[in-house]
Amino acid sequence: MFGSFRVGRVFGINVRVDWSWLLIFFLISWNLAAGFSQLHPMWDPLLSLGIAVGGAILFFLSVLAHELAHSLVAQARGVPVRSITLFLFGGVSNIEREPDSPKSEFLLTIVGPITSLVIGGVLLLLVNAAVPVGDTVAAPEEALRQMSPLATVFLWLGSVNILLGLFNLIPGFPLDGGRILRSILWAVTDNLHRATRWAAAVGQAIGWLMIFGGIAMVFGVPIPFFGAGLVNGVWLAFIGWFLSSAASQSYQQTVMRAVLEDVPVSRLMRTDPPTVPPHISISSLVHDYVMKTDEHAFPVQEGERLVGLVTLEDIRAVPRDAWDARTVSDIMTPADKLITIAPDSDTADALMRMSQRDVRQLPILRDDRLIGLLRRRDIVRWLQLESELGVG
Ligand SMILES: [Zn+2]
Repeated sequence: MFGSFRVGRVFGINVRVDWSWLLIFFLISWNLAAGFSQLHPMWDPLLSLGIAVGGAILFFLSVLAHELAHSLVAQARGVPVRSITLFLFGGVSNIEREPDSPKSEFLLTIVGPITSLVIGGVLLLLVNAAVPVGDTVAAPEEALRQMSPLATVFLWLGSVNILLGLFNLIPGFPLDGGRILRSILWAVTDNLHRATRWAAAVGQAIGWLMIFGGIAMVFGVPIPFFGAGLVNGVWLAFIGWFLSSAASQSYQQTVMRAVLEDVPVSRLMRTDPPTVPPHISISSLVHDYVMKTDEHAFPVQEGERLVGLVTLEDIRAVPRDAWDARTVSDIMTPADKLITIAPDSDTADALMRMSQRDVRQLPILRDDRLIGLLRRRDIVRWLQLESELGVG
């Protein structure tokens, strides 16, 4: 959403945090601290703040546990996981490809909400052991006041985890519930594409229902379970909008991946891309090659051998007065650091590798010899033609 940074590595999976999460962290700590000092005026303000920050950290860990459950089961089922990113609304596991069977998808999805519900259930049981539910129901305010700081945090965290588990079970793709629905439709129809389309349609429908419900709440109509009023209504509509756009976006991505999986890179690559020798100066690279084409990247060849790739960004990183003194081989990405692919690889795979390494082109090699260059813009153009003309 706003970019993310890495916080660590668990079970070989990189854990990243989206910048938007810092906002959530701040809001949670602030709200909790305010709630505690209202409920327990006799607590030291520093104690309230400390417990609030602790609660926010525990919330972070429970969202992480939910995502780790997805990732570990995915890995156990042979589906590689690149990283976990925690963002505004929870987390996403960046699973590298679609699971290969409905059973795998069902299992790796359902463990997430189960983890949240179990964490929530255990925490609430612990709270109940300290302050029996009977007392809380009879005099909720009084029971809350008597709770220890730890029990108060556990009560909050337990309820939040239960909500997190239930929210994720809403059967709209790409939420966990929607993925579970998709895996069932997939098992029934034996058609992943159709199952995705239906599950995404349900996701959009639920999103729109939430938007309408939210608007109704704004105008004072009470909605069961959600209540009424401006703030609740706007929230519900916002979540609905988020869900419906996520549903259509993930459907488009799935379709794009399915289309590109059938296309070998040799069909989309630029054959005979202009190449440059390694020992020329950057000045002559610019004047003799860059100015004469609209290419952004040039494979560097010594005789028949690919020795690297030089891009406009590499040139831009060198100050102009050094252009005569430095050569292409000084600034290129050397061949051993490049990712290259074979002409019969599929384009979905190639596109995934490009986004992983954040590059815009991949050299295509056959028997160690350069036969073409696959550029991101060629893929985009092909997808446009494919959707406009229905040709491929
Ligand atoms: Zn999940």
